[in-house]
Amino acid sequence: MRPFTSTISFDEARRRLNDAVTPIARTERLELERAAGRVAAEDVTSSIDVPPFARSAMDGYALVAADTTAATGGSPIGLQIVERIYTGQMPKTAIVRGTCAEIATGAPLPDGADAVVMVEQTKMEGDNRVLIATAAAAGQNVGRRGADISAGAVVVRRGDVLNPGRVGAVAAIGRSEIDVYARPRVAILSTGNEVIEPGRPLGPGQIFDVNRFTLAAIVLAHGGVADARQPVDDTVASLGAALDACADADIIVFSGGSSVGERDLIVDLVASRGEMIFHGIAVKPGKPTAFARVNITGTPFFGMPGNPTSCLSNAYVLLVPFLRAVARLPELPNRTIRVPLGRRIVSQAGRLQFYTVKIEGGIAVPAFKGSGEITSLSQADGYIQIPAEQSVVEEGSDVDVTLF
Ligand code: AMP
Ligand code: MG
Repeated sequence: MRPFTSTISFDEARRRLNDAVTPIARTERLELERAAGRVAAEDVTSSIDVPPFARSAMDGYALVAADTTAATGGSPIGLQIVERIYTGQMPKTAIVRGTCAEIATGAPLPDGADAVVMVEQTKMEGDNRVLIATAAAAGQNVGRRGADISAGAVVVRRGDVLNPGRVGAVAAIGRSEIDVYARPRVAILSTGNEVIEPGRPLGPGQIFDVNRFTLAAIVLAHGGVADARQPVDDTVASLGAALDACADADIIVFSGGSSVGERDLIVDLVASRGEMIFHGIAVKPGKPTAFARVNITGTPFFGMPGNPTSCLSNAYVLLVPFLRAVARLPELPNRTIRVPLGRRIVSQAGRLQFYTVKIEGGIAVPAFKGSGEITSLSQADGYIQIPAEQSVVEEGSDVDVTLF
């Protein structure tokens, strides 16, 4: 056994992780329909005006506004209908004073017309005349050519996340593909002689691999590609071989074996392959979390605790911000709600505690069972942070719950 002689603070761990971020440089060209949620790797410039032609914004009549100056409900102005213009079709007749064209929403405005009066403010008089019951202003209900996007405008900038609106802007200018940053490849691997794949019969002393699945889920949710591997035994040789097999990963995440038991070999592994940046954080759960740079490339390496709740809890607070920064995704927005605590919590002094809670009827009910119990997380909606120097949170006091 090699007990922790010292730990660093959570804030210090975050700082060191921040310093180790290298935003992904690889890019790939994607079809637009597969690009949602990705980060643009180019400034997307429009080569066209949108809309590409002046168009009607209403179903109604395209006319010369000056003809309608005196029009009112009581004394409408009569105009002759010279054409019916549908969408996808160009007008053939120019509008002159005293005439108009029936026009559909989205159809090109005919030459000579400078306004559209909506159909609700008109009345047909026979087949080819219409009464206009309102004075139109020039430009009314007309979508100017290029009003949305003008040729030469940048619709999406490099580094923008392609949310649905931005995907729409790229589509509007006629682009069907876009360069985006590659998603970081995250190799995930569980260590431990006792850990086996779900779906197999459980032998004596064995447990099913939980961490591989929680880590893959969280990686996927935050912009990474999860490359999960089979669990490996607690030997330096198998861990070394597993690490060699992760050569193409942008981030490597092992779980288990990071504690102080004699089989906990992550420390030895890192010592032989790279540089430990930290090992041991003053948090609960998840004290034995390690972070290192490994191999000649200095690939970021997380050694997560084996306990499923410790592993996932630290993945939320340490791996997620790191992964998002590498993936060039923005920091997560604040997702906290302030609610009263349903039951008194006693917290261990000297470690920042991430304590899981469930929200029931507007109250935060403690959900934390223990570091080894995945139900501490599966039955929780979020967590509160109890500072290292605080040992009690009283029932009824307001707490800030960070929602998952
Ligand atoms: P370790 O960090 O390897 O000392 O493991 C701490 C505890 O977590 C032990 O009870 C392990 O059996 C358990 N554990 C380790 N890895 C996993 C895993 N992938 N899934 C579920 N439990 C695990
Ligand atoms: Mg282990």
